[in-house]
Amino acid sequence: GDFPEEVDTLVIGSGPGGYVAAIRAAQLGQKVTIVEKGNMGGVCLNVGCIPSKALIEAGHRYHDASNSEDMGISVGEVKLDFTKVQEWKASVVNKLTGGVEGLLKGNKVDIVRGEAYFVDNSTVKIMDDKSSQTYKFKNCIVATGSSPIELPNFKFKEGKVVSSTGALALEEVPEKLLVIGGGYIGVELGSAYANLGSEVTILEGTKSILPTFEKQMSQLVAKRLKKAGVTIETEAFAQEMEETENGVKVTAEVKGEKKEYEANVLLVTVGRRPNTSELGLEQAGVEMNDKGFIQIDKQCRTSESNIYAIGDIVAGPALAHKASYEAKVAAEAISGEASEIDYTAIPEVVFSGPELASVGLNEEKAKEQGYDYVASKFPFQANGRALSLNESEGFLKMITRKEDGLVLGVQIAGKNASDMISEACVAIEAGMTAEDIALTIHAHPSLGEITMETAEVALGMPIHIV
Ligand code: FAD
Repeated sequence: GDFPEEVDTLVIGSGPGGYVAAIRAAQLGQKVTIVEKGNMGGVCLNVGCIPSKALIEAGHRYHDASNSEDMGISVGEVKLDFTKVQEWKASVVNKLTGGVEGLLKGNKVDIVRGEAYFVDNSTVKIMDDKSSQTYKFKNCIVATGSSPIELPNFKFKEGKVVSSTGALALEEVPEKLLVIGGGYIGVELGSAYANLGSEVTILEGTKSILPTFEKQMSQLVAKRLKKAGVTIETEAFAQEMEETENGVKVTAEVKGEKKEYEANVLLVTVGRRPNTSELGLEQAGVEMNDKGFIQIDKQCRTSESNIYAIGDIVAGPALAHKASYEAKVAAEAISGEASEIDYTAIPEVVFSGPELASVGLNEEKAKEQGYDYVASKFPFQANGRALSLNESEGFLKMITRKEDGLVLGVQIAGKNASDMISEACVAIEAGMTAEDIALTIHAHPSLGEITMETAEVALGMPIHIV
């Protein structure tokens, strides 16, 4: 056996959960060790949020370059060097992962490379290719994230049948791309490749793509996708696959009818599962539910009081900013602070065309929860900035409590919804009313004015619509 090393706070995983937890814990005076078996930055920085947004941006630029005639801009042949696109994407990822490592070191966090495995509720073994070292910890924050679900009939095969990770790493733009799953990852990557020139088909099992968003919002995206040549099949269930010389042939049942699709690349994005089965959590006594999610209290504490869990391995939306938020709560809880998780103002965003963003309650949920509410809406079309951006499609919808105008929720479909939603998050977090927003001076011309004007709609006196 080896001599155990003693550490105070041990963080397992360096994604947006783990690295943020490590930094906040160090800021609060804890002695922190972080262990990572793969690349610094987790899914988010390496194969998630960041590289996907880079590909989406490349898609927009390529598409817009040859589609700006209505603004009086026409160019000759627009060329795409996808190898260069991939190199640029990698450079963005490298800057950020290097940055994370620098931040950890700057905060005096010890970095250990290897895979952690629990021996009991205060001991882990960390293994790499060659060796194994035992660590005794006082407190541990588990942030091991999630992995793509593989369907039995559609086993991953490099370059042909891919998860989101493989789709981000393709060496060329596939002529035909078939996507199983019309959730946000399928829609984001599907539209990126459509803009880059692929002929894309999306198979979605429910009645619409992006089923967690309001119908009017997901319909806007579906309309834009169709305009870009994407075929969307709803109530479509992929059943089996056969490999062909250049790709795959997939059989699906679409609205009860059997159909066949050929593609060079098949992207399967049907959800992710928590990385909790190979961690030895049973030996530590940490309780999980039947889907493998770790159960936590309001301070992210598991059934073992010195072990915390955050991010994709606990219930709730699998989003980077949720992981980072929980990270701060867990680190603060270890330092004895009274921090608690409150998901009221967690935004959800899709980087589709147009972007979708939502925070707080939508109309349906306000109704369900018995609120007497007002739903106000303002179109992008009536905003000068939106028109000058040539982005007049979309709307902002605000749900306010009838008695006092308290902002309960905001949904946005339109250009830069991902940035605009932050103002709504602040409003909800701070308990602001429609009047507070309407009385705030917003710069002109800006998309932010749409938020102000929607608040004015709620008060019954908008300036730019009648
Ligand atoms: P992860 O980021 O998964 O990190 C876990 C880390 O733990 C990994 O580095 C892993 O190697 C390490 N690890 C696991 N087991 C061990 C072990 N035993 N020992 C040591 N290390 C271990 N979210 C958004 O908010 N916005 C987006 O735009 C967005 N886009 C996405 C696009 C794609 C294609 C994908 C796949 C995801 C996207 N997400 C997005 C989701 C986001 O990436 C995740 O919610 C987030 O990364 C979860 O963070 P985490 O810290 O819980 O885990």
